[in-house]
Formats: sequence, C-alpha cells, structure tokens
Amino acid sequence: MQETLALVTGAAGGIGEAVTRLLAEQGTTVAAVDRDAERLAETAALLRKEGLAVTEFAADVTSSSAVERLVEEVETRLGPVHQLVNTAGVLRLGPAHTLTDEDWNATLAVNATGVFHMSRAVVARMIPRRTGAVVTVASNAAGTARAEMAAYAASKAAATAFTKCLGLEVASYGIRCNVVAPGSTDTPMLRGMHTAETAAQASVAGRPDQYRVGIPLGKVALPEDVARAVAFLLSEDAGHITMHELTVDGGATLG
Ligand code: NAD
Repeated sequence: MQETLALVTGAAGGIGEAVTRLLAEQGTTVAAVDRDAERLAETAALLRKEGLAVTEFAADVTSSSAVERLVEEVETRLGPVHQLVNTAGVLRLGPAHTLTDEDWNATLAVNATGVFHMSRAVVARMIPRRTGAVVTVASNAAGTARAEMAAYAASKAAATAFTKCLGLEVASYGIRCNVVAPGSTDTPMLRGMHTAETAAQASVAGRPDQYRVGIPLGKVALPEDVARAVAFLLSEDAGHITMHELTVDGGATLG
C-alpha cells in the first residue's frame, strides 16, 4: 500500500511540531514546512534522529509562487500529498484603532491568504486523485470577541469560512476539509503574548498557566492536545466528517 504523505505548515512552531511528530509516529511521511528555515531544520533533524520520516522544506506561505514551487517540489521528491495541515500563523495584538496597515496586512497574509495559497495548490492536485484531507488550524477567537485580537480573529474567521467552503466544493471528489479551533495552547506564540515589560508588570512572563482563567477544564492546552484533534480529523475515523469546526479549548467558548 502507498504510504500516506502529509504536508504540515508552521512545522517549526509549537502546534506544528506536535502535529508533525504525532503524524510521523503514526507512520505518515511528513513534509514539514516553515518560513523559519533554521528552526525547521533543527526540528526535522531531531525528529529524524528518533527514526521519524520527516523532510523539511523552507517556504513562506504568503507567496503564491513560492507555494506553487513548494508543492511541486514536495510531490516530485516524496510523491502525492494526501493530507494538508495549515498550521502556520502569526499573532499581532493591539486595540483595533491602533493597528497599523502593516499589522493588518501581515496577519491576513499568513493566517488567511496563506491558507488559501496552500489549500489551492494541494487540493488542485488531490481532485484528479479523488482523495485527500485538509485541516486548517484556526482559533476559537474566530467566533468569540477578544480584546486586542481584531486582526487575528478576522484572519482566523476568514480561514475558517474558506476551509468550510472548500470542503463543500470538493466533497464530491472524496476530499474532506475541516477546521481545528484551539484556545490558549502552551506554545511560543502564547508565551510571546506579552512583551517583557508588560509581562513583568502583569507577572505572566513565561507563565502560560495564567491563561487558564476562564477555561472550565482548568488548564491551558498542550500542543499535543491540538495535534490529536488534527490527526483524528485527517484519519479514516473521521471518514464521514467534513466542513466541521472542532474546538479544542477546554470549554472556554463552549456551553
Ligand atoms: P508558533 O508561533 O509556535 O508557530 C507558528 C509557526 O508558523 C512558526 O514556526 C512560524 O515560523 C510559522 N510561520 C509564520 N508565518 C509563516 C509563513 N508566512 N510561512 C510559513 N510559516 C510561517 O505558534 P503556535 O501556537 O504553534 O500556532 C500554530 C497555529 O495555531 C497558528 O495558526 C495559531 O494562530 C493557532 N493558534 C494558536 C493558539 C495558542 O494559544 N498557541 C491558539 C489558537 C490558535
């Protein structure tokens, strides 16, 4: 039987690395993509040392031409991509009226347009093969107002809507497209939410446990919690699930 190949973006980040590791541990070959070439190479080398089938490809998802070249190269070197996980993301915090054009555009470019670029390039190749699965890692902020997160939430709402519409269009080809919406998850992104100065004032520097307030399950997610939800939606266990948004936030926005 042909090996399953997954392409994971943001693979050098907290959640992306956990997804890459879990899929590879389950026997999937992973093309690990990130724009941070150095950290990506370190991550991939570490996983390969553990005997996992991970190959790194440095690329920036905001460039449609780079994404086209990337997917072509991945398929030439490793074979057809069966699964896509859109994890690459950025967070720019600030009250909406103080956000710069650059804050807004940079956020939308990665979190929304990047998802479009990757999904278009991969799904166009899945359609003739009449099989495939896409999971976009969005956020619970897409559906719940959060202070200082207007650009981020808007970008995640766009990615969520895009992924669901895509799912409708390609369902007849046997391709499933789902969303995982994490809440606070202990990764470099969460730990970076406060600058050193504000963190010192608020005593939250490097203390993601602060974010557990308001989470009914009483703890911040680990990247592995999110990775398991992603792996489930990619798997045959979720074979009849598409256009679904699976929230993984300990109940923070549910109920
Ligand atoms: P992270 O900062 O650890 O990882 C994000 C990764 O994306 C980084 O390795 C970064 O280099 C990469 N990236 C950024 N821009 C890119 C680009 N243009 N091209 C390619 N790669 C790029 O963050 P994380 O917490 O692991 O976040 C992963 C995803 O989960 C993001 O989409 C984030 O918005 C989402 N999310 C995170 C949380 C949280 O609390 N950590 C909550 C909800 C949603």
